[in-house]
Amino acid sequence: MPRNNSFFDDLRNEAITGVAYKNLSLKKQILIRFANTGNATIADLSKELNISTPKTAGLVTELLQDGLVKDYGKTESSIGRRPSLYGLNPHSVFFVGVEVKRFHVNIGLLDFKKNVVKISESIPYRLDNTPEAFRQLCDIIQDFIRILSIKKDKILGIGLNLSGRINSRTGYSYSYFHFGEEPLSNLLEKETGIPVFLENDSRAMAYGEFCHGAVRDEKHILFINMDYGIGMGIMVNGRLYYGRSGFAGELGHIPVFDNEIICHCGKKGCLETEASGEALIRIFLKRIRGGASSIAWKPGRKETAIQLEDIIRAAKQDDVLAIECIAEIGEKLGKGMATLINLYNPELVILGGSLSATGAYIQLPIITAVHKYSLSLVNNDTELKISQLGERAGVIGACLLVRDRLLGLL
Ligand SMILES: [Zn+2]
Repeated sequence: MPRNNSFFDDLRNEAITGVAYKNLSLKKQILIRFANTGNATIADLSKELNISTPKTAGLVTELLQDGLVKDYGKTESSIGRRPSLYGLNPHSVFFVGVEVKRFHVNIGLLDFKKNVVKISESIPYRLDNTPEAFRQLCDIIQDFIRILSIKKDKILGIGLNLSGRINSRTGYSYSYFHFGEEPLSNLLEKETGIPVFLENDSRAMAYGEFCHGAVRDEKHILFINMDYGIGMGIMVNGRLYYGRSGFAGELGHIPVFDNEIICHCGKKGCLETEASGEALIRIFLKRIRGGASSIAWKPGRKETAIQLEDIIRAAKQDDVLAIECIAEIGEKLGKGMATLINLYNPELVILGGSLSATGAYIQLPIITAVHKYSLSLVNNDTELKISQLGERAGVIGACLLVRDRLLGLL
């Protein structure tokens, strides 16, 4: 009978010391080996992790009893007695990822082997900084968990992505739902009964792409989240970069324009004021007022009813006005990104977020501006790709961040 994930319970138990602690660390190393590289035999594990064969066999047996590891049968190619292959049991534990966007929520479930079990996208929601909006978010999460066909105690954690200033170490969100003394992660944990981990949305998306998407072997990566605002996730040497308090990557708020547009951060001239989805809507409406037409605009419609999604959809249907406005913000964003490329010398820049769905319409003006404004020696090293996971990057990243945080990989 499986011991019901006692490994993860033990990991949280600080009273475990001595030999038991040593065994726990070795089991963690074995799980990390399976998670990073895939299935292995006892002999492989023993050699790679420098643990004796009998000791390795004993630890793997315990992990089998925990239900976390599965026997995948005999290897195929060996001559003589064929050893068994072991690896993570995908259905032993699960992780929930929640991505909160301005007008909808995406929520999903991943198993231990990074397989997407279920994703519910575009659940209607309005992100306001109010207790009511927080209440509604709790309800969405609980409704999702309630209808899952797995037992709740198999969910080891919930990863929640929010835009703005997040301290993922302390669980505080400073831009949304910061109503009292208690960290937001604690409030949500009380509601759901499951440990909650907070992350900045762009960083979680970057992690999703890094582990599951457009990244091959690259280790120096910038992920640009092109949405209503502009966010960034930074990977340095294959690891997420947080900065001192987790606020690194505030690309949207670098002052690059000499304009009088007040950014919602309170300052003016921020990149976000002219190169974000919010700026796109403003530019689009100005053109409409000037007499331009678009399939995204019906006369008599309220200007406030226009959402970013309407313009993206129009561009995908080759609407000229939408494409022109997207090119305009793309050029400005590319100029901002040229600075980043000079600073970071990345191998790969991934263009993600809602606007990445417009593909070449946003990518080409960005590439042109990057070439125009960055040093050619530096930008020659850099590949610019559209996100492969698209709308799923945030949810997958949130789940993987929980998994890898629990395994001590972050
Ligand atoms: Zn700003």
